[in-house]
Amino acid sequence: MLRKRFLTVPCIDHHVGNRQPLNLSCVPLKILIIEDEPAIADTLLYALKTEGFEPHWCTTGQAGLAALAVQDIALIVLDVGLPDGSGFEFCKTIRTRSEVPVVFLTARASEIDRIVGLEIGGDDYLVKPFSPRELTARVKAILRRTNCHATTPAVATPPPPQPAKPTPVFALDEARCRIVYRGQNLDLTRYEFRLLKALLAQPGRVYSRDQLMNAAWEEPAASLDRTVDAHIKTLRAKLRAVDQTSDPIQTHRGLGYSLRE
Ligand code: CA
Repeated sequence: MLRKRFLTVPCIDHHVGNRQPLNLSCVPLKILIIEDEPAIADTLLYALKTEGFEPHWCTTGQAGLAALAVQDIALIVLDVGLPDGSGFEFCKTIRTRSEVPVVFLTARASEIDRIVGLEIGGDDYLVKPFSPRELTARVKAILRRTNCHATTPAVATPPPPQPAKPTPVFALDEARCRIVYRGQNLDLTRYEFRLLKALLAQPGRVYSRDQLMNAAWEEPAASLDRTVDAHIKTLRAKLRAVDQTSDPIQTHRGLGYSLRE
């Protein structure tokens, strides 16, 4: 499973600094290990091979730079204490020619500050002793992060199906003073039309009877609250005649009415 995932990570041409997806035939990804302690290198080689990578081991910084120049390296595991110099200095050199991710290995926790704080250009670090699992987890995380967000059509999760855009329940034709409900033109009185138009303006908003009265009646003061109720009742009946299963106008006891969202 893991192997399959890594087979789909596009390779990077670090020599020219471009991040380009290459043909899948270039897999597995090459990991360059620059580490002078054979026991640690052996552990790394085994762990990375097990995860489907192709690790290459160099014991000095210079050998590592030479390997980087001729191979498509996806990531470097770089020891800080090398026989021919500091891993920090080698990382700086690497950065002048490549954006390849670098994971530092350090024997001293005191070096972490330098790795994290001095913008040497490393992507992560591990303090010795570390578990092989920890190392491979970091490597995989960095490759996912830096390479390509690690998806290709071969294994990409298809986007969730978009729900079909629903046809609008109501359609207001103001010029014709018409409201279409579920595809049917409603035969409304003047007040029913104005009430429904007011409710449609802000679905979900609760309108008090006074607010509806002001919206629909020329002389609201001359009308009674119950007038609103009466017209809502006839309006509901007309809506129900179109669709018996739904009741789009909601009564809020003691407050007023709203249109369901
Ligand atoms: Ca060392």
